[in-house]
Amino acid sequence: MNPVAMNDQERGEKLAERVVIVGAGHAGGTAAALLRQYGFEGSIVLAGEEPVAPYQRPPLSKAWLKGEADSESLLLRPVSFYPEHNIDLRLGVVATAIDRTAKTVTFKDGEALPYDRLILATGAGPRHLPVRGAELRRVLYLRTAADADALKAVLKRGRRLAVVGGGYVGLEVAASARALGCEVVVIEREARVLARVASKPLSAFFERYHAEKGVEIVLGAAVTGFRGENIVTGVALHGEVQACDVALVGIGAAPNIALARDAGLSCADGVVVDLEARTSDPDIFAIGDVTHRPLPLYDRAMRLESVPNALEQAKQAAAAISGHAPPAPEVPWFWSDQYDLKLQIAGAPFDADSLVIRGDPATNSFAVFHLAGNRLMAVEAVNAAAEFMGGRQLIGKRAEVDPAKLADTAIPMKQIAAG
Ligand SMILES: Cc1cc2nc3c(=O)[nH]c(=O)nc-3n(C[C@H](O)[C@H](O)[C@H](O)COP(=O)(O)OP(=O)(O)OC[C@H]3O[C@@H](n4cnc5c(N)ncnc54)[C@H](O)[C@@H]3O)c2cc1C
Repeated sequence: MNPVAMNDQERGEKLAERVVIVGAGHAGGTAAALLRQYGFEGSIVLAGEEPVAPYQRPPLSKAWLKGEADSESLLLRPVSFYPEHNIDLRLGVVATAIDRTAKTVTFKDGEALPYDRLILATGAGPRHLPVRGAELRRVLYLRTAADADALKAVLKRGRRLAVVGGGYVGLEVAASARALGCEVVVIEREARVLARVASKPLSAFFERYHAEKGVEIVLGAAVTGFRGENIVTGVALHGEVQACDVALVGIGAAPNIALARDAGLSCADGVVVDLEARTSDPDIFAIGDVTHRPLPLYDRAMRLESVPNALEQAKQAAAAISGHAPPAPEVPWFWSDQYDLKLQIAGAPFDADSLVIRGDPATNSFAVFHLAGNRLMAVEAVNAAAEFMGGRQLIGKRAEVDPAKLADTAIPMKQIAAG
């Protein structure tokens, strides 16, 4: 629990009557619904730039891209949910400025909406690759449903896709494109895929698995430009050109902090918030990918990009605004689906000084545990649900574990987690 967190009622503040949420994505859409669930009776405006009601992004690189899910199934809630719960959902609107003294948010069309509490849920946007040819047709990015539509339209059987960036989104698109019958090359600047976000054994495993599925992987290769007249025909690296019909750039995302920064809110790599999701202005909250948030289990703060994080912070903000106690901090976690692999990661490997591998990566079911001394900091589990669940539990308890036991698959994970 955060010892200093107090909700508005405990602060002796009048409960809010008007809440404005900027950004109608996973975090913003969830916060609006939770406010009603927690009994908030004031007005809620949920304002988002995209023309669609809040939806899930994870399927955009997975089931949806492969044609296994329809657009309706992406929605967080049916469109009728919002009027039924008296949530004023405004789509296709862009907030341009916050006046913290007048307590208004101004939108591109000139309208200024008053708020008692403001929630910033503006997410993140893809980092762009500023090289020659980046403006060519079929050089694509993937963040929104519209981006996914554009990608899906050109991923035709037999075409060659060059994925620039071997992160989660890039590798997921690579797997989906193989399922669609495309040739795929993944181009990564670092010496291994997932270099920023996974352990070496996990990177090695995914490199092997993708190669077995027919994906070519080029490591340590910096992109110098895109080739082509109108449509991209190749990705130029130092010393070679990788031919392609489509290029997908997946080199990470940057938080949409402009509104917050221009309003003078404290920002780092994201809008700085506390465990109630409150920014440096007590009437303004920020949630989801846009935040730089505390991780009390680790006495650190960082920006997370995951659905569980968006949900946790939506809960924190909705609880504070509606006069509820702050929810208990959760162990951060994330998942990625590629081919028939389900990767689940819990925790963060801060200060970890050793790795324990449980199971054999060659069987496509194993887990990598990150330990600091004997304390479990993080687990990466591939097709290993028990290891993920047990690991998450142990991380939450700040438990110490015997590395030899962790490595011994004869001892059930449940038994180890029960400690
Ligand atoms: C392809 C893809 C696959 C993913 N897969 C996974 C996965 O497998 N597992 C996982 O845990 N996470 C995954 N994620 C990450 C996850 O989707 C995000 O963490 C989550 O969407 C964050 O929610 P958010 O509400 O903070 O941001 P978003 O969902 O990005 O929503 C932010 C919204 O704010 C709007 N906005 C921004 N600025 C303004 C403004 N000034 N005015 C009005 N509106 C504005 C944006 O248009 C956007 O609609 C994936 C993401 C992508 C793109």
